[in-house]
Amino acid sequence: MKAAVYLGIKKIQIKEVERPKCGPGEILIRVHFCAICGTDVRTYLHGHKKVKPPHIIGHEIAGEIAEMGKETKGHQLGDRVTVVTSVGCGKCRWCQKGYYNLCPDGEAIGYFYQGGFAEYLLMPQEAVAQNAVLKIPENVSLVEASIVEPLSCCINGQNYLKIEKGDSVAVFGAGPIGMMHLELARTSGAEKTFLIDISKEKLEFAQSHFSADYLINSQKENPTEKISSLTENKGVDVVIVAASAKIAQEQALKIVGKKGRISFFAGLPKDNSIINFDSNILHYQEISIFGSFASYREEYEEALNLIVSKKIEAKKFITHILPLEKIEEGINLIRKGKTLKVILKIRI
Ligand SMILES: [Zn+2]
Ligand SMILES: [Zn+2]
Repeated sequence: MKAAVYLGIKKIQIKEVERPKCGPGEILIRVHFCAICGTDVRTYLHGHKKVKPPHIIGHEIAGEIAEMGKETKGHQLGDRVTVVTSVGCGKCRWCQKGYYNLCPDGEAIGYFYQGGFAEYLLMPQEAVAQNAVLKIPENVSLVEASIVEPLSCCINGQNYLKIEKGDSVAVFGAGPIGMMHLELARTSGAEKTFLIDISKEKLEFAQSHFSADYLINSQKENPTEKISSLTENKGVDVVIVAASAKIAQEQALKIVGKKGRISFFAGLPKDNSIINFDSNILHYQEISIFGSFASYREEYEEALNLIVSKKIEAKKFITHILPLEKIEEGINLIRKGKTLKVILKIRI
């Protein structure tokens, strides 16, 4: 089968590799689409501790079941499916609750396991046993389903934030994740929205597809002062930091209002993740800060439901569809910022 094989930093090669064999309890998926995630871009540029080259990355997958191993139940050949990325040990406290994303011994599709930038993807037995293969509803196309994984992660982040009708919401980061957060917040009733980014190009590109009420270029203007003046010094109800930047996390604490909720959605580089803030802001204003990491099956289902009901228009996030061979071109387009989701079309 054809696969884009990651060979190390800034090296991906299209190769013929052996098609995986489907053992007992496993499922082989014929991949139709696999979207490029921000993490794939970072793995390409800097490497990733869980990815040992040569390896096939990619985890935002939509395809159809091509083969099933003996003893695989609850699925049918030809089922249109997407997959849950996190695979847990199945035994620990978190796995028992279904939070495979929090398993201390957890592994993931496209990181430890081979991923979806290939014609076929093998879902290992443990993942199948954890119900990680989800059927896509009839009225959702496969290309739309390829954004279910990132959307489910945003849902995980927002489930903590309890956004209500009339809330004001500020999002740091005008990439696809930032825009998914903005749209999700709207489905929960957010009214005044602020989009903050250091890149004028990204802000303008994002705004040509979506419409935040206020755009703030934090390279040019101070988001703290700007939001203070736009909210009569009250601050915003919810801040989502979908940008991997310490300064954005610190600013989030300055622009949030009383009883505000903050999501530190994006992680920081591991050797540069200590931030400074006045903890009295939390105390006197009753602020909560939440983290979130990846997502679990129920949130994939929520994401599919939002797409089925058209509360989230999946197609609006997809700005580029490229053949697998153009994976590096796709990665470079994302780096330039004039894209939202870039999807690789694998089955021609
Ligand atoms: Zn992803
Ligand atoms: Zn576990």
